[in-house]
Parts: sequence; structure tokens; C-alpha cells
Amino acid sequence: MRIIDAHVHNWSVFADPKVLIQALDRFAIDWVVLLSDLTGGPYPAPEEVTAANERTLALMRRCPERIIGFAYLNPAYPKHAGEELRRCFEAGMMGVKLWVATKCNDPQVFPVVEAAIELGMPLVVHTWNKITGNLPHESRPTDLADLARRYPEARFQMAHIGGDWEFGCKAIRDCPQVKVDFAGTVNEWGAYEMALRELGEDRIVFGTDMPADYHLNLGRVLQGNYPEEVKQKILADNFEALLPRPLPH
Ligand SMILES: [Zn+2]
Repeated sequence: MRIIDAHVHNWSVFADPKVLIQALDRFAIDWVVLLSDLTGGPYPAPEEVTAANERTLALMRRCPERIIGFAYLNPAYPKHAGEELRRCFEAGMMGVKLWVATKCNDPQVFPVVEAAIELGMPLVVHTWNKITGNLPHESRPTDLADLARRYPEARFQMAHIGGDWEFGCKAIRDCPQVKVDFAGTVNEWGAYEMALRELGEDRIVFGTDMPADYHLNLGRVLQGNYPEEVKQKILADNFEALLPRPLPH
């Protein structure tokens, strides 16, 4: 199987390029998508966002045949977010990562989405539905559904399938351009099967939140009671279809 892990962070042990590349070899992963080390915490200053993207770019340069970078942005600084998006695109990044600095359907995010549409870049959006209460600007799956309805031509990857996967699945079911990953989510029995039933076989992408547990996440795809072709779509093809250009095989 060809494997693209579409949700990885270069923090902890993965800040070291040797360890990251060793993991790619040991786990037989074709490509990983780095969604930054989230320097600066939930509300990063522009210079912290730039520093985080520089670290992603350095790793991309170390292993350009297996590492894809996504531009990490804080839309609360609109001028910087716009400039940083273009800088990262020109340096070879292929998508955008939004975390918790602003709700994803905040009007401050609209120029970022419009630029991503123009450049053909998908947006990975953190979403979580927490029974203990979300962070002040932390998006729920319903917020992403709202944004997706506003921009039907944009392409999204809803990270963590909203944490609460049943809720997340239903929230974006009617937004065909929203795909989901299960990164960092409790991988309960039946979760993939429900997502396949509700969203279809083209809308699930494989992501793990590495350096969190890789094998649990991979095992949950491989042991599923569905055809091998569907597993291959989940493990690589569905994510690849989001990108502005095909990856070299
Ligand atoms: Zn993550």
C-alpha cells in the first residue's frame, strides 16, 4: 500500500530530521504532511508563525521527496497571514493549516480561504467538539460546515473528524468538499465504518498526529471490513486528490 500520513507535527522527537526520516523508513511511509510545530501556542505572534514555517521548510529541504509542508497561519494578523501564505506557497508548500487562534468561520479567515482557492491549496482545519468546553476560538465541526457552505469551491480537511466523530461526521456530511482525518482521535470500533457510510469512500484521509501512535491508526484502517481499494483510497489517494499538483510516484 502507498501511504501518505496527512497529519504530522515536527515537534518532540520529530524536530530532529534524523528521527523523522528514520520513522518514514521504519514505518514504510511514502509521504508525510507537516502541519508545523505550532510554535507560540494557541495565539502565535506573526514572528512565531514565520519561525514555525521556517522549521517546516528546513525539513522539506532535507527530504523533498517525502515531506510535504503546509503553511501555518494566524488569521488574526491578516496582513502577515496573506504574505506568509504566498511566501510559503512560493517555497513549495502545498496547503494551509489553521489551528485555534480564530474560529474558522471568523471573517478574518475569509481572505485566507480566498487566497487558498486562488492558489489551489487545501486547508486543514482543527476542529473539536469538547464536552469539557472548547478554547475561546476553537472551531467545532459545525463552524467548518458554515465556512464550507460559504466557500463551496474551497477544499478542506477536517482534522480529528471533530474529536467527537459521530457529531463531526454529521456536521459536514452535506459539504462534499470537506474530507476528514482521524488524527489524534479516539479510534473506536466502527468509526471508520460510520464515516464510510455517511461520507462515502472518497472523503476520508489517513492522518495520525504523529509523533503520536502511528500503528494504532494504521491498524484501524487495515483491519477494517471493507475492500483493499478503499483502504488504498484512505491511505493515500483521497489526500492526493486535495493537492494543487500530483506527487511524483
Ligand atoms: Zn495535529
